[in-house]
Amino acid sequence: MAAMDARLAALRHGYECSCGQTHHLPIADIEVAYGVLAKVPDRLRDLGFSGPVHVVADSNTQAAAGAEVAAALRQAGFSVAETIFDTPDKALVPNEPALARLFLEIPVTAEVLMAVGSGTITDLVRFAAYKMGKPFVSVPTAPSMDGYASAVSPLIVGGFKRTFSAVPPRAIYADLEVLCSAPMWMIVAGFGDLVGKYTARADWQLSRIINGEYYCQSSLDLMAAALELCTSNPEGLRRRKPELIKALMEGLILSGIAISMAGSSRPASGAEHQLAHYWEMRSLKENRHLYLHGTKVGVATPLVLGIYNKVLGSDPNAIDLDKLAQTHQEPDTVETAVRAHYGSMAEEVLTESQRKMLTWAAREKRIHLIQSKWEEIQQTLSWLPRAEEVVEMLARAGAETSPERLGLPDEWVKDALTYARYLRSRYTVMDLAAELGI
Ligand SMILES: [Zn+2]
Ligand SMILES: [Zn+2]
Repeated sequence: MAAMDARLAALRHGYECSCGQTHHLPIADIEVAYGVLAKVPDRLRDLGFSGPVHVVADSNTQAAAGAEVAAALRQAGFSVAETIFDTPDKALVPNEPALARLFLEIPVTAEVLMAVGSGTITDLVRFAAYKMGKPFVSVPTAPSMDGYASAVSPLIVGGFKRTFSAVPPRAIYADLEVLCSAPMWMIVAGFGDLVGKYTARADWQLSRIINGEYYCQSSLDLMAAALELCTSNPEGLRRRKPELIKALMEGLILSGIAISMAGSSRPASGAEHQLAHYWEMRSLKENRHLYLHGTKVGVATPLVLGIYNKVLGSDPNAIDLDKLAQTHQEPDTVETAVRAHYGSMAEEVLTESQRKMLTWAAREKRIHLIQSKWEEIQQTLSWLPRAEEVVEMLARAGAETSPERLGLPDEWVKDALTYARYLRSRYTVMDLAAELGI
């Protein structure tokens, strides 16, 4: 996509944005194209690398791309060592044992690490690279999630998912042939993560208007073309059309870059990610099957759009405040419920969400504020698609369209709609709906 190159060129030079920040691109080289793997040795030399490369892959990604890229590097005179996680029947988890293995096997002499894989491998290598003070290069094998360009690593530590600071890759080389042959469930997961940008964007706009939160339009614009292309032709993804797979991958990479521009995951993550995160936690806790992140984000997006459609169709000026006051729950009542629901995780959750627990006086003030901004909110969010439109897009791509279809119990959906908003301090439409009593 020429648009991506132009935008990245501007970012590479660095520019002062209307959001008040100066943005620049922390990633030196990005390419999504056919035949990229063979070019990796030359590109590494261009970046100034000549020393030992440590390649990390799993059995699947080694077969898909790792062996080829390692052979190309060796042929070009690089010294290459490898850590290959054995994953014929068991999924690799980004947890303590996997990290320990990396720290044991990566030699101190390695000049650069190379993550050949999708989310799990990339997150593990990103964290190891950061801790060892070494650069890493990402070789994505599937357009399955938007974390490739990211500077943080979600890891599972002590059975909980936590996000750790790390570094973005020095370069990203995604071979289109490899991406197009990725398993379809991974491709549709990437589409789910991309579709989630609708509600992420809306939530950010909402919070800018209501809370005066920092906002950067150009970080959102970065992803717009890819989102437009993929959502206008979801069946192209199902048919593995190279131009669509390329757009999806670029959209996912750009989403990671948007996050680093904004300095937080705001442009890429709103209520839909809170729901997905809730289900993920609960799956971990109850030892159930973990669906790919993007798959959960995909089914969460129409749910959040449903809330939007309902909220935007209502009139906050018509709220009967006296009646609402009678059903209001004071902070200590809410805190007790959150504690009971989250159990051993409650402390952590409460530090995030204390400010979301409002006294009636505070809530009444918020409602007046929302009333005064209502016209602006409705106008700004008039671009939002309806929930049914996104369900249709997901179906056309061959993705799961609802939590039930994914096998998530009804209770999990209900609980997520009530409690997921306490997982993060970030303001979303779920908070707006709660404030208005919808
Ligand atoms: Zn995501
Ligand atoms: Zn900006």
